[in-house]
Amino acid sequence: MGQIHPPIQACNFHHMTHNIDHNNTFFERARLVIPGGVNSPVRAFRAVGGTPRFIQRAQGAHFWDANGRKYIDYIGSWGPMILGHGHPDVVEAVQKAVTQGFSFGAPTEREIELAEEILKHLPSMEMLRLVSSGTEAGMSAIRLARGATGRSKIIKFEGCYHGHADALLVKAGSGLATFGNPTSAGVPPEVVQHTLVLEYNNLEQLEEAFNLYGKEIACLMMEPIAGNMNFVRASVPFMQRCRELCTQHGALLVFDEVMTGFRVALGGAQEIYAKAIPGFRPDLTVLGKVIGGGMPLAAFGGPRAIMELMSPVGPVYQAGTLSGNPIATACGLATLREIVKPGFFEELSAKTRKLMDSLKKAAANEGVAFSVDSEGGMFGFFLLPRLPQNYGQVLKTEGAKFNQLFHGLLDRGVYIAPALYEAGFVSAAHSEEDIEVTIAAAQHVFKSLRPA
Ligand SMILES: *Cc1c(COP(=O)(O)O)cnc(C)c1O
Repeated sequence: MGQIHPPIQACNFHHMTHNIDHNNTFFERARLVIPGGVNSPVRAFRAVGGTPRFIQRAQGAHFWDANGRKYIDYIGSWGPMILGHGHPDVVEAVQKAVTQGFSFGAPTEREIELAEEILKHLPSMEMLRLVSSGTEAGMSAIRLARGATGRSKIIKFEGCYHGHADALLVKAGSGLATFGNPTSAGVPPEVVQHTLVLEYNNLEQLEEAFNLYGKEIACLMMEPIAGNMNFVRASVPFMQRCRELCTQHGALLVFDEVMTGFRVALGGAQEIYAKAIPGFRPDLTVLGKVIGGGMPLAAFGGPRAIMELMSPVGPVYQAGTLSGNPIATACGLATLREIVKPGFFEELSAKTRKLMDSLKKAAANEGVAFSVDSEGGMFGFFLLPRLPQNYGQVLKTEGAKFNQLFHGLLDRGVYIAPALYEAGFVSAAHSEEDIEVTIAAAQHVFKSLRPA
Protein backbone atom coordinates (compact mmCIF):
# COMPACT_ATOMS: atom_id res chain seq x y z
CA MET A 1 0.00 0.00 0.00
CA GLY A 2 1.02 3.57 -0.22
CA GLN A 3 2.06 4.33 -3.77
CA ILE A 4 0.79 7.31 -5.76
CA HIS A 5 0.08 7.07 -9.46
CA PRO A 6 1.29 10.11 -11.35
CA PRO A 7 -1.11 11.22 -14.06
CA ILE A 8 0.01 9.99 -17.46
CA GLN A 9 -0.50 12.57 -20.18
CA ALA A 10 -0.59 10.25 -23.18
CA CYS A 11 -2.82 7.18 -23.31
CA ASN A 12 0.02 4.79 -23.97
CA PHE A 13 -1.39 1.75 -22.23
CA HIS A 14 -1.95 -1.44 -24.19
CA HIS A 15 -5.37 -2.50 -25.26
CA MET A 16 -6.11 -6.20 -25.04
CA THR A 17 -5.02 -7.56 -28.39
CA HIS A 18 -4.85 -11.06 -29.86
CA ASN A 19 -6.60 -12.36 -26.74
CA ILE A 20 -3.49 -11.81 -24.65
CA ASP A 21 -4.55 -11.10 -21.09
CA HIS A 22 -1.78 -8.88 -19.80
CA ASN A 23 -2.98 -9.28 -16.21
CA ASN A 24 -2.44 -13.04 -16.53
CA THR A 25 0.96 -12.56 -18.11
CA PHE A 26 2.04 -10.18 -15.36
CA PHE A 27 0.66 -12.45 -12.65
CA GLU A 28 2.63 -15.42 -13.98
CA ARG A 29 5.79 -13.31 -14.18
CA ALA A 30 5.20 -11.81 -10.74
CA ARG A 31 4.77 -15.19 -9.09
CA LEU A 32 8.27 -16.18 -10.17
CA VAL A 33 9.92 -13.32 -8.31
CA ILE A 34 7.46 -12.18 -5.61
CA PRO A 35 5.74 -14.66 -3.24
CA GLY A 36 2.21 -15.13 -4.53
CA GLY A 37 2.92 -12.41 -7.09
CA VAL A 38 1.99 -9.62 -4.68
CA ASN A 39 3.59 -7.40 -2.05
CA SER A 40 0.55 -7.49 0.28
CA PRO A 41 -1.54 -10.68 0.48
CA VAL A 42 -5.11 -9.45 -0.15
CA ARG A 43 -4.07 -8.13 -3.59
CA ALA A 44 -3.69 -11.72 -4.83
CA PHE A 45 -7.48 -12.29 -5.11
CA ARG A 46 -7.08 -15.54 -3.12
CA ALA A 47 -10.43 -15.11 -1.35
CA VAL A 48 -12.45 -14.41 -4.50
CA GLY A 49 -10.45 -16.36 -7.10
CA GLY A 50 -9.39 -15.13 -10.51
CA THR A 51 -6.47 -13.04 -11.68
CA PRO A 52 -5.56 -9.82 -9.88
CA ARG A 53 -5.68 -6.73 -12.05
CA PHE A 54 -2.30 -5.11 -12.54
CA ILE A 55 -2.90 -1.38 -12.44
CA GLN A 56 -1.17 0.84 -14.97
CA ARG A 57 -2.42 4.25 -14.07
CA ALA A 58 -5.17 6.07 -12.24
CA GLN A 59 -6.93 9.38 -12.46
CA GLY A 60 -9.74 10.74 -10.29
CA ALA A 61 -12.09 7.92 -9.25
CA HIS A 62 -10.80 5.51 -11.91
CA PHE A 63 -7.93 3.24 -12.69
CA TRP A 64 -6.91 1.22 -15.72
CA ASP A 65 -5.51 -2.31 -15.69
CA ALA A 66 -2.81 -3.89 -17.87
CA ASN A 67 -5.39 -4.61 -20.59
CA GLY A 68 -6.42 -0.96 -20.69
CA ARG A 69 -9.73 -1.73 -18.96
CA LYS A 70 -11.18 1.06 -16.86
CA TYR A 71 -12.62 0.53 -13.38
CA ILE A 72 -14.40 2.70 -10.86
CA ASP A 73 -12.11 2.44 -7.83
CA TYR A 74 -13.77 1.85 -4.45
CA ILE A 75 -10.52 0.84 -2.73
CA GLY A 76 -8.57 4.06 -3.09
CA SER A 77 -5.34 2.27 -2.11
CA TRP A 78 -7.28 0.93 0.94
CA GLY A 79 -8.21 4.38 2.12
CA PRO A 80 -5.53 7.01 1.46
CA MET A 81 -6.88 8.36 -1.84
CA ILE A 82 -9.68 10.44 -0.35
CA LEU A 83 -9.31 13.08 -3.08
CA GLY A 84 -9.18 10.46 -5.82
CA HIS A 85 -6.05 9.87 -7.87
CA GLY A 86 -3.82 12.58 -9.26
CA HIS A 87 -5.42 15.62 -7.63
CA PRO A 88 -3.63 18.53 -9.37
CA ASP A 89 -2.66 20.40 -6.16
CA VAL A 90 -1.27 17.25 -4.59
CA VAL A 91 0.66 16.33 -7.72
CA GLU A 92 2.09 19.84 -7.85
CA ALA A 93 3.16 19.74 -4.19
CA VAL A 94 4.85 16.37 -4.69
CA GLN A 95 6.59 17.48 -7.88
CA LYS A 96 7.91 20.57 -6.14
CA ALA A 97 9.11 18.52 -3.15
CA VAL A 98 10.89 16.04 -5.43
CA THR A 99 13.01 18.79 -6.94
CA GLN A 100 14.10 19.87 -3.44
CA GLY A 101 15.44 16.48 -2.39
CA PHE A 102 14.17 13.01 -1.54
CA SER A 103 15.37 12.54 2.02
CA PHE A 104 17.77 14.28 4.35
CA GLY A 105 17.89 12.38 7.62
CA ALA A 106 17.55 15.78 9.28
CA PRO A 107 14.44 17.68 10.37
CA THR A 108 12.39 19.86 7.99
CA GLU A 109 9.79 22.60 8.38
CA ARG A 110 7.23 20.50 6.54
CA GLU A 111 7.19 17.95 9.36
CA ILE A 112 6.16 20.72 11.77
CA GLU A 113 3.51 21.95 9.35
CA LEU A 114 2.02 18.48 8.94
CA ALA A 115 2.09 17.83 12.71
CA GLU A 116 0.38 21.20 13.35
CA GLU A 117 -2.27 20.54 10.72
CA ILE A 118 -3.08 17.08 12.11
CA LEU A 119 -3.15 18.23 15.74
CA LYS A 120 -5.52 21.09 14.91
CA HIS A 121 -8.30 18.57 14.24
CA LEU A 122 -7.66 16.03 17.00
CA PRO A 123 -8.04 17.64 20.44
CA SER A 124 -6.98 14.39 22.17
CA MET A 125 -3.47 14.84 20.77
CA GLU A 126 -0.97 17.50 21.81
CA MET A 127 2.04 15.91 20.13
CA LEU A 128 2.73 13.27 17.57
CA ARG A 129 5.55 11.47 15.91
CA LEU A 130 5.67 10.68 12.19
CA VAL A 131 6.60 7.24 10.92
CA SER A 132 6.28 5.42 7.59
CA SER A 133 3.52 2.83 7.99
CA GLY A 134 0.47 2.08 10.10
CA THR A 135 2.17 -1.08 11.32
CA GLU A 136 5.11 0.93 12.60
CA ALA A 137 2.84 3.50 14.24
CA GLY A 138 0.72 0.86 15.99
CA MET A 139 3.75 -1.07 17.20
CA SER A 140 5.33 2.13 18.55
CA ALA A 141 2.10 3.20 20.29
CA ILE A 142 2.02 -0.12 22.13
CA ARG A 143 5.66 0.24 23.18
CA LEU A 144 4.84 3.73 24.43
CA ALA A 145 1.76 2.50 26.33
CA ARG A 146 3.86 -0.21 27.98
CA GLY A 147 6.62 2.27 28.73
CA ALA A 148 4.19 4.79 30.19
CA THR A 149 2.40 2.30 32.45
CA GLY A 150 5.23 -0.08 33.25
CA ARG A 151 2.81 -2.91 32.42
CA SER A 152 2.98 -5.68 29.82
CA LYS A 153 -0.50 -6.86 28.93
CA ILE A 154 -2.52 -5.48 26.05
CA ILE A 155 -6.11 -6.03 24.95
CA LYS A 156 -7.18 -6.25 21.33
CA PHE A 157 -10.40 -7.34 19.67
CA GLU A 158 -10.92 -10.15 17.22
CA GLY A 159 -11.34 -8.77 13.70
CA CYS A 160 -9.49 -5.51 14.40
CA TYR A 161 -6.23 -5.14 12.49
CA HIS A 162 -3.43 -2.99 13.81
CA GLY A 163 -0.69 -3.91 11.38
CA HIS A 164 1.53 -6.96 11.49
CA ALA A 165 3.72 -6.42 14.56
CA ASP A 166 4.37 -9.83 16.17
CA ALA A 167 2.43 -9.15 19.38
CA LEU A 168 -0.68 -8.28 17.33
CA LEU A 169 -0.76 -11.34 15.08
CA VAL A 170 -2.95 -13.20 17.48
CA LYS A 171 -6.39 -14.74 17.70
CA ALA A 172 -8.54 -15.56 20.68
CA GLY A 173 -7.57 -18.54 22.78
CA SER A 174 -9.96 -21.31 23.79
CA GLY A 175 -11.58 -19.79 26.85
CA LEU A 176 -13.15 -16.50 27.75
CA ALA A 177 -10.50 -13.87 28.54
CA THR A 178 -7.59 -16.21 27.93
CA PHE A 179 -4.44 -15.19 26.15
CA GLY A 180 -4.26 -15.69 22.43
CA ASN A 181 -2.53 -17.90 19.90
CA PRO A 182 -0.33 -16.60 17.06
CA THR A 183 -2.11 -16.31 13.68
CA SER A 184 1.15 -16.40 11.76
CA ALA A 185 4.01 -18.85 11.58
CA GLY A 186 7.17 -17.25 12.89
CA VAL A 187 5.52 -15.66 15.91
CA PRO A 188 6.66 -17.46 19.10
CA PRO A 189 3.86 -18.08 21.62
CA GLU A 190 5.92 -16.17 24.21
CA VAL A 191 5.60 -13.02 22.09
CA VAL A 192 1.80 -13.06 22.21
CA GLN A 193 1.49 -14.28 25.79
CA HIS A 194 0.68 -10.75 26.93
CA THR A 195 -1.99 -10.15 24.29
CA LEU A 196 -5.57 -10.70 25.37
CA VAL A 197 -8.06 -11.06 22.49
CA LEU A 198 -11.70 -10.26 23.12
CA GLU A 199 -14.88 -10.21 21.07
CA TYR A 200 -15.79 -6.77 19.71
CA ASN A 201 -18.89 -5.22 21.29
CA ASN A 202 -18.98 -7.90 24.00
CA LEU A 203 -19.43 -6.06 27.32
CA GLU A 204 -19.32 -9.20 29.42
CA GLN A 205 -15.90 -10.27 28.14
CA LEU A 206 -14.60 -6.74 28.54
CA GLU A 207 -15.69 -6.61 32.20
CA GLU A 208 -14.21 -10.03 32.87
CA ALA A 209 -10.87 -9.15 31.28
CA PHE A 210 -10.50 -6.03 33.44
CA ASN A 211 -11.69 -7.91 36.53
CA LEU A 212 -9.02 -10.54 36.03
CA TYR A 213 -6.12 -8.48 34.76
CA GLY A 214 -7.04 -4.80 35.24
CA LYS A 215 -3.88 -3.73 37.04
CA GLU A 216 -1.62 -5.50 34.53
CA ILE A 217 -3.12 -3.98 31.38
CA ALA A 218 -0.97 -1.37 29.65
CA CYS A 219 -3.52 -0.55 26.97
CA LEU A 220 -6.67 -1.48 25.18
CA MET A 221 -6.15 -1.00 21.45
CA MET A 222 -9.13 -0.81 19.15
CA GLU A 223 -10.43 0.29 15.80
CA PRO A 224 -13.33 2.50 16.98
CA ILE A 225 -15.09 1.82 13.70
CA ALA A 226 -13.53 -1.41 12.54
CA GLY A 227 -12.69 -1.41 8.85
CA ASN A 228 -10.74 -4.64 8.77
CA MET A 229 -13.81 -6.79 9.38
CA ASN A 230 -15.69 -4.91 6.66
CA PHE A 231 -17.42 -2.14 8.65
CA VAL A 232 -18.43 -2.68 12.27
CA ARG A 233 -18.95 0.14 14.75
CA ALA A 234 -18.24 -0.14 18.43
CA SER A 235 -21.61 0.53 20.07
CA VAL A 236 -21.77 3.70 22.15
CA PRO A 237 -22.30 1.83 25.47
CA PHE A 238 -19.41 -0.48 24.60
CA MET A 239 -17.14 2.46 23.81
CA GLN A 240 -18.17 4.24 27.00
CA ARG A 241 -17.33 1.15 29.05
CA CYS A 242 -13.96 0.76 27.30
CA ARG A 243 -13.16 4.33 28.32
CA GLU A 244 -14.38 3.90 31.92
CA LEU A 245 -12.55 0.63 32.52
CA CYS A 246 -9.28 1.97 31.10
CA THR A 247 -9.49 5.08 33.29
CA GLN A 248 -10.46 3.08 36.36
CA HIS A 249 -7.57 0.61 35.96
CA GLY A 250 -4.92 3.03 34.73
CA ALA A 251 -4.71 1.48 31.27
CA LEU A 252 -4.40 3.61 28.14
CA LEU A 253 -7.17 3.60 25.55
CA VAL A 254 -5.43 3.49 22.16
CA PHE A 255 -7.51 4.36 19.11
CA ASP A 256 -6.20 2.87 15.91
CA GLU A 257 -7.51 5.44 13.45
CA VAL A 258 -5.14 4.47 10.64
CA MET A 259 -8.21 3.90 8.48
CA THR A 260 -10.82 6.16 10.09
CA GLY A 261 -8.60 9.20 10.75
CA PHE A 262 -9.48 12.07 8.35
CA ARG A 263 -11.74 9.54 6.57
CA VAL A 264 -14.96 9.21 8.59
CA ALA A 265 -14.81 12.86 9.74
CA LEU A 266 -12.21 15.58 9.98
CA GLY A 267 -11.70 14.66 13.64
CA GLY A 268 -11.80 10.93 12.95
CA ALA A 269 -13.98 8.39 14.74
CA GLN A 270 -13.10 10.03 18.06
CA GLU A 271 -15.03 13.12 16.96
CA ILE A 272 -18.07 10.94 16.33
CA TYR A 273 -17.88 9.19 19.72
CA ALA A 274 -17.26 12.51 21.48
CA LYS A 275 -20.64 13.66 20.14
CA ALA A 276 -22.35 10.67 21.76
CA ILE A 277 -20.26 10.56 24.97
CA PRO A 278 -19.60 14.03 26.42
CA GLY A 279 -15.91 14.66 27.11
CA PHE A 280 -14.86 11.43 25.42
CA ARG A 281 -11.30 11.10 24.16
CA PRO A 282 -8.81 8.28 23.68
CA ASP A 283 -5.37 8.47 25.33
CA LEU A 284 -3.29 7.65 22.26
CA THR A 285 -4.20 7.76 18.58
CA VAL A 286 -2.62 5.95 15.66
CA LEU A 287 -2.96 7.47 12.19
CA GLY A 288 -1.94 6.47 8.67
CA LYS A 289 -3.50 6.12 5.22
CA VAL A 290 -5.20 9.52 4.52
CA ILE A 291 -2.53 11.59 6.31
CA GLY A 292 -0.02 10.41 3.69
CA GLY A 293 -2.37 10.91 0.74
CA GLY A 294 -0.97 7.74 -0.88
CA MET A 295 2.64 8.06 0.27
CA PRO A 296 4.22 5.94 3.05
CA LEU A 297 3.39 8.05 6.09
CA ALA A 298 1.75 7.37 9.46
CA ALA A 299 1.80 8.82 12.96
CA PHE A 300 1.00 8.19 16.59
CA GLY A 301 0.28 10.80 19.21
CA GLY A 302 -1.39 11.84 22.42
CA PRO A 303 -0.96 14.14 25.41
CA ARG A 304 2.41 15.87 25.84
CA ALA A 305 3.08 14.13 29.17
CA ILE A 306 2.89 10.72 27.50
CA MET A 307 4.52 11.66 24.20
CA GLU A 308 7.55 13.15 25.96
CA LEU A 309 8.36 9.68 27.19
CA MET A 310 9.58 9.08 23.64
CA SER A 311 13.27 9.11 22.81
CA PRO A 312 15.25 11.44 22.71
CA VAL A 313 13.40 13.16 25.60
CA GLY A 314 12.27 10.03 27.40
CA PRO A 315 13.15 6.35 27.81
CA VAL A 316 10.93 4.78 25.09
CA TYR A 317 13.05 4.14 22.00
CA GLN A 318 11.76 4.59 18.48
CA ALA A 319 13.40 5.82 15.24
CA GLY A 320 13.21 5.75 11.44
CA THR A 321 15.58 6.59 8.54
CA LEU A 322 12.70 7.79 6.36
CA SER A 323 10.37 9.07 9.12
CA GLY A 324 8.81 12.40 8.15
CA ASN A 325 10.07 11.95 4.60
CA PRO A 326 9.87 15.28 2.72
CA ILE A 327 7.99 13.88 -0.31
CA ALA A 328 5.51 12.01 1.88
CA THR A 329 4.88 15.02 4.12
CA ALA A 330 4.34 17.23 1.05
CA CYS A 331 1.78 14.75 -0.27
CA GLY A 332 0.03 14.43 3.10
CA LEU A 333 -0.09 18.18 3.69
CA ALA A 334 -1.49 18.94 0.24
CA THR A 335 -4.13 16.24 0.78
CA LEU A 336 -5.15 17.55 4.21
CA ARG A 337 -5.38 21.11 2.87
CA GLU A 338 -8.12 19.97 0.50
CA ILE A 339 -10.14 17.97 2.97
CA VAL A 340 -10.20 20.67 5.66
CA LYS A 341 -12.14 22.93 3.28
CA PRO A 342 -15.68 23.71 4.51
CA GLY A 343 -18.31 21.24 3.33
CA PHE A 344 -15.84 18.57 2.23
CA PHE A 345 -17.04 15.88 4.62
CA GLU A 346 -20.73 16.81 4.31
CA GLU A 347 -20.54 16.23 0.55
CA LEU A 348 -18.47 13.07 0.81
CA SER A 349 -20.78 11.62 3.49
CA ALA A 350 -23.92 12.39 1.50
CA LYS A 351 -22.48 10.76 -1.63
CA THR A 352 -21.37 7.67 0.25
CA ARG A 353 -24.71 7.37 2.03
CA LYS A 354 -26.56 7.70 -1.27
CA LEU A 355 -24.48 4.89 -2.79
CA MET A 356 -25.22 2.64 0.20
CA ASP A 357 -28.95 3.45 0.30
CA SER A 358 -29.28 2.80 -3.43
CA LEU A 359 -27.43 -0.51 -3.22
CA LYS A 360 -29.70 -1.56 -0.38
CA LYS A 361 -32.78 -0.64 -2.40
CA ALA A 362 -31.47 -2.52 -5.45
CA ALA A 363 -30.85 -5.63 -3.31
CA ALA A 364 -34.30 -5.38 -1.72
CA ASN A 365 -35.90 -5.24 -5.18
CA GLU A 366 -34.42 -8.66 -5.90
CA GLY A 367 -35.13 -10.06 -2.45
CA VAL A 368 -31.41 -10.27 -1.60
CA ALA A 369 -30.57 -9.97 2.11
CA PHE A 370 -28.35 -6.92 2.38
CA SER A 371 -27.31 -4.45 5.06
CA VAL A 372 -25.23 -1.29 4.78
CA ASP A 373 -23.46 1.27 6.92
CA SER A 374 -21.18 4.22 6.24
CA GLU A 375 -19.52 7.17 7.91
CA GLY A 376 -17.88 9.96 5.96
CA GLY A 377 -16.17 8.39 2.95
CA MET A 378 -15.93 4.87 4.39
CA PHE A 379 -18.58 2.21 3.87
CA GLY A 380 -19.46 -1.41 4.42
CA PHE A 381 -22.12 -3.68 3.01
CA PHE A 382 -23.01 -7.22 3.93
CA LEU A 383 -24.95 -10.02 2.26
CA LEU A 384 -26.66 -10.40 5.61
CA PRO A 385 -30.11 -9.23 6.76
CA ARG A 386 -28.69 -7.27 9.72
CA LEU A 387 -25.44 -5.42 10.39
CA PRO A 388 -22.99 -7.68 12.25
CA GLN A 389 -21.60 -6.60 15.63
CA ASN A 390 -18.43 -8.70 15.72
CA TYR A 391 -16.05 -10.74 13.59
CA GLY A 392 -17.91 -14.03 14.07
CA GLN A 393 -21.08 -12.46 12.70
CA VAL A 394 -19.23 -10.93 9.73
CA LEU A 395 -17.97 -14.39 8.80
CA LYS A 396 -21.58 -15.67 8.56
CA THR A 397 -21.62 -14.10 5.08
CA GLU A 398 -21.77 -16.78 2.37
CA GLY A 399 -18.38 -16.55 0.70
CA ALA A 400 -19.62 -17.91 -2.64
CA LYS A 401 -22.29 -15.20 -2.85
CA PHE A 402 -19.80 -12.46 -2.05
CA ASN A 403 -17.48 -13.79 -4.75
CA GLN A 404 -20.34 -13.73 -7.25
CA LEU A 405 -21.04 -10.13 -6.28
CA PHE A 406 -17.37 -9.18 -6.48
CA HIS A 407 -16.77 -10.72 -9.91
CA GLY A 408 -20.12 -9.51 -11.24
CA LEU A 409 -19.19 -5.95 -10.34
CA LEU A 410 -15.62 -6.34 -11.59
CA ASP A 411 -16.86 -7.62 -14.97
CA ARG A 412 -18.94 -4.44 -15.18
CA GLY A 413 -16.00 -2.18 -14.35
CA VAL A 414 -16.67 -1.67 -10.64
CA TYR A 415 -13.70 -2.53 -8.42
CA ILE A 416 -14.53 -3.26 -4.77
CA ALA A 417 -12.25 -4.94 -2.21
CA PRO A 418 -11.53 -8.56 -3.17
CA ALA A 419 -12.50 -9.92 0.26
CA LEU A 420 -15.69 -9.69 2.32
CA TYR A 421 -13.88 -8.52 5.45
CA GLU A 422 -12.69 -5.23 3.97
CA ALA A 423 -14.33 -1.80 4.07
CA GLY A 424 -14.84 0.33 0.96
CA PHE A 425 -14.00 3.95 0.18
CA VAL A 426 -15.59 6.75 -1.78
CA SER A 427 -13.43 9.71 -2.80
CA ALA A 428 -14.20 13.32 -3.58
CA ALA A 429 -13.54 12.45 -7.23
CA HIS A 430 -16.44 9.98 -7.55
CA SER A 431 -19.07 11.64 -9.72
CA GLU A 432 -22.83 11.31 -9.79
CA GLU A 433 -22.32 9.25 -12.95
CA ASP A 434 -19.84 6.88 -11.25
CA ILE A 435 -22.41 6.25 -8.53
CA GLU A 436 -25.20 5.66 -11.09
CA VAL A 437 -23.02 3.23 -13.10
CA THR A 438 -22.19 1.37 -9.88
CA ILE A 439 -25.83 1.05 -8.88
CA ALA A 440 -26.84 -0.15 -12.36
CA ALA A 441 -24.06 -2.78 -12.28
CA ALA A 442 -25.14 -3.93 -8.83
CA GLN A 443 -28.77 -4.22 -9.99
CA HIS A 444 -27.68 -6.74 -12.63
CA VAL A 445 -25.62 -8.74 -10.19
CA PHE A 446 -28.38 -8.82 -7.56
CA LYS A 447 -30.69 -10.47 -10.13
CA SER A 448 -28.26 -13.39 -10.29
CA LEU A 449 -28.14 -13.53 -6.48
CA ARG A 450 -31.91 -13.70 -6.14
CA PRO A 451 -32.91 -16.51 -3.79
CA ALA A 452 -34.40 -19.46 -5.69
C1 LIG B 1 -4.07 -0.27 7.25
C2 LIG B 1 -4.18 -0.39 8.71
C3 LIG B 1 -3.04 -0.60 9.52
C4 LIG B 1 -1.69 -0.89 8.96
O1 LIG B 1 -1.19 0.14 8.20
P1 LIG B 1 0.01 -0.17 7.15
O2 LIG B 1 0.37 1.16 6.64
O3 LIG B 1 -0.58 -1.09 6.13
O4 LIG B 1 1.11 -0.84 7.92
C5 LIG B 1 -3.21 -0.55 10.89
N1 LIG B 1 -4.42 -0.34 11.44
C6 LIG B 1 -5.51 -0.15 10.71
C7 LIG B 1 -6.82 0.12 11.37
C8 LIG B 1 -5.44 -0.18 9.32
O5 LIG B 1 -6.56 -0.04 8.60
